[in-house]
Amino acid sequence: MRAEIIAVGTELLLGQIANTNARYLSEKLAELGIDVYWHTVVGDNAHRLDEAIGLALSRADLIIFSGGLGPTMDDLTKETVASLLGLALEKNSEWEKHLEERFARLGRQMTDNNRKQALVPGGAVLIENDNGTAPGLWLERADKILVLLPGPPRELEPMFADKIVPRLIKAGDSQVICSRVLKVAGLGESAMEEAIADLLKKQSNPTIAPLVKHTEVHLRITAKAASKEEAVKMLTETEDEIRGRLGLAVYGAGEESMADAVAALLFKKKMTLAVAESCTGGLLSHMLTNVPGSSDYFLEGLVAYSNRSKTDLLNIKGSLLREFGAVSEETARAMAENLRRRAGCDLTMAVTGIAGPTGATDDKPVGLVYIALAGPEGVSCRRFNFWGKRETIKERAAVAGLNMLRLYLARLNG
Ligand code: ATP
Ligand code: MG
Repeated sequence: MRAEIIAVGTELLLGQIANTNARYLSEKLAELGIDVYWHTVVGDNAHRLDEAIGLALSRADLIIFSGGLGPTMDDLTKETVASLLGLALEKNSEWEKHLEERFARLGRQMTDNNRKQALVPGGAVLIENDNGTAPGLWLERADKILVLLPGPPRELEPMFADKIVPRLIKAGDSQVICSRVLKVAGLGESAMEEAIADLLKKQSNPTIAPLVKHTEVHLRITAKAASKEEAVKMLTETEDEIRGRLGLAVYGAGEESMADAVAALLFKKKMTLAVAESCTGGLLSHMLTNVPGSSDYFLEGLVAYSNRSKTDLLNIKGSLLREFGAVSEETARAMAENLRRRAGCDLTMAVTGIAGPTGATDDKPVGLVYIALAGPEGVSCRRFNFWGKRETIKERAAVAGLNMLRLYLARLNG
């Protein structure tokens, strides 16, 4: 079934409101496996609306209208559809009675305009509006389905979800669409693409769509099938194939964050962790403690920002800071080692770097970050050169720290 959404409203063309109804409807139709091929936006103008409907009837099987069902002069969707299809408007006495009762309850006078809302094109099914006065309409003509919905989202959304979706499922060749997101980190977009190039090339069902999310890449896998079970099976097959190719670079799926992945590994290996942060200013601790239950493994997070605090809290020698500087592999390693002694935990991580925009020197540019990891087998340290503004560098550094922890834990035996 090919669908077109026609949003009616001059305010949409003027940019006064965003066409969120089209977004909503497209998302829901995709879940039903109905392909939306066109979004049309047209103003409150009978001639141009007429043209848009004519075009939609020539190419789509399902046309969903949003807006223009209200009582005022500029609301002309229903009238235009009826006249184009040669249908007379007939009064729906039940809805008129419902409106009369509603107005009486509110102590308001009902005008002729309001009465207009009880008019229904011949053969159309009136769809009750639980949140407003304009009813929706379901109209079948030859092999086409036309659905007219009121513009306000708080009326359109429940009407569509509760009353139109069941009708669409009954009416058609609805297939189930399921999707899953795999999250990939520490592998450039092009390296990742190379590893799965053939999968990306031959994809049709499931489809695989990469999306770059500033510190990582997300792969959305979408499968279409007759049943949910079948779609889920297809997703799992593709997921297994991708995980096989990308290995540890896939850190999670769906809502799972990198910190969740680290947490799961720490739980599994029954290890404890403490961190000492300079340039990330506590962001790494923040991410680690966003995970419920983090008190089981996270012992402490120190923000040792100044040289003095590095000396006072972490016993970093003044001579070391003078010789190598606060942003150096030597300092990062010493911070991690000394913290491990101090906190008495299995693992420690230390981050020191230049978040910018100031603070760079000839041999130490903005974005230079050292991250050290101390564990039972000793200390390792990595040097990174991040780019971006201050906050971005902090975030990239914190995520890189999490990724180092994740890879270290994943590779540990047992
Ligand atoms: P009403 O009875 O309120 O007049 P209606 O069905 O005639 O409803 P419109 O007059 O076209 O609908 O729009 C009413 C309001 O609904 C708009 O002012 C806007 O706030 C919202 N709206 C309309 N179309 C859209 C859209 N495509 N996306 C998001 N909101 C919309
Ligand atoms: Mg209106």
